[in-house]
Amino acid sequence: MALDKKVKLFTVLLSGFRHRWFVYFRSRYTIRSLLSRKGKCLACGRCCLLNIPWCRYLNNNKCQLGKRKPFFCKIFPIDKKDKILSGVSEECGYYWEERE
Ligand code: SF4
Ligand code: SF4
Repeated sequence: MALDKKVKLFTVLLSGFRHRWFVYFRSRYTIRSLLSRKGKCLACGRCCLLNIPWCRYLNNNKCQLGKRKPFFCKIFPIDKKDKILSGVSEECGYYWEERE
């Protein structure tokens, strides 16, 4: 496997692990961060395509479930780092305002 593919795989695994860790074990931080999240999902499908391309609900880069998508999908991204590690920092419609 080429080095860039290995790095990509590692980043995806790390991002998935981090996301779950924060949801299950840092719930206060996660809730605070989600409450300060701005913007909305643009339904670009990029997060799913990059991180869970095998999902059976992903069709033509769109989630077929729409607003009925699972809770775990709804709370992505939990923070700015979640976006960066998942490779959607530019495309994603969610954002956090910088602290002054
Ligand atoms: S259920 Fe929808 S939002 Fe969740 S991973 Fe699958 S395609 Fe993406
Ligand atoms: S990358 Fe962001 S805007 Fe695009 S589908 Fe995922 S959560 Fe929605």
